[in-house]
Amino acid sequence: MNRPLRLRLDRAALVANWRWLQATAGTAAGAAVKADGYGLGAREVTAALAQAGCRDFLVSTWDEAERLGDLRAGASLSVLHGVCRDDLNEALRSRARPVLCSLEQVSRWRGAAGRRPCDVMIDTGMNRLGVRPEESPLLEGLVIDTLMSHLACADEDHPLNAIQLERFRAVAAAVPAKRASLANSAGICLGRDYAFDLVRPGLALYGGVPRAEAKGHIRQVAHLEAQVIQRRVAKSGESVGYGATFVAERDTQIAVLNIGYADGYWRGFAGGGSATFEGARLPLVGRVSMDLIAVDCSAAPQVREGDWVGIDFDLPAAAAASGMSQYELLTGLGGRFERC
Ligand SMILES: *Cc1c(COP(=O)(O)O)cnc(C)c1O
Repeated sequence: MNRPLRLRLDRAALVANWRWLQATAGTAAGAAVKADGYGLGAREVTAALAQAGCRDFLVSTWDEAERLGDLRAGASLSVLHGVCRDDLNEALRSRARPVLCSLEQVSRWRGAAGRRPCDVMIDTGMNRLGVRPEESPLLEGLVIDTLMSHLACADEDHPLNAIQLERFRAVAAAVPAKRASLANSAGICLGRDYAFDLVRPGLALYGGVPRAEAKGHIRQVAHLEAQVIQRRVAKSGESVGYGATFVAERDTQIAVLNIGYADGYWRGFAGGGSATFEGARLPLVGRVSMDLIAVDCSAAPQVREGDWVGIDFDLPAAAAASGMSQYELLTGLGGRFERC
């Protein structure tokens, strides 16, 4: 079956990004592969990183843990949302460790799993998931593999970063655990003070640039290509697409491509998106439809029905063009891509 749109995963770039993050942190780097590897395919991403030497993987839910299938020997998997009441049976069957993130979860795990290893999330200031620092004496009796916390503002120069670092240092000094882990992608860029024993990048593995420090080091990983369905000419004065928002100032060569907002190519790209064919830039014209876009192909008049056109999706540029975050752009990539 021909699928008219493709998502090509550049595995070499993925591995190079992981190596840069690990070298920058100066400590072990794991990988957040939740949300189906940020939309790129959790199994594929995990396999490529495990082969490169990555040993620690993180998902959000037990369902995601199960879908990941068997991991390489020596690899570990953590489930970030911990064990809620309805997760307990699944958690006890799984090889993955829960990241316990409330006192309810702590007592649930202690009661059901005894001294089986777990991870623990400490909330040092985000007020999302985690045990408060002052509650950490109640972790007594757990066998903790990785003690974690998560930064709320690492992508900015915000005073909360240093406050969270100090709070986490204090808890890590007081609570026995095999390892401590604080930094996500942006946190790695804050410097080695934030690295502890394990860093947990997600976004930057997949080509996202979380802070200026990573610019020039992080490579694009997800390459989108869509097939041309039709060539046409919009005559001078005619409009293209819904809302007739683009009006041709002169006879304009148009290529209609097989991608739309149902694929995660959001309406925000109108006015800023573009495609590339044989080195020529083809600007998006008019609105993004559910399954289609139109581009001005005057710069590549040779493009024909059936040709594959690259959709410009370098994440920092695509985020600027669309007004979406780099995270949303990745995780929104839909189910119709042939992932290769
Ligand atoms: C998603 C997540 C990460 C990875 O964050 P990025 O910003 O994508 O690098 C790390 N730690 C936790 C707890 C997360 O939820």
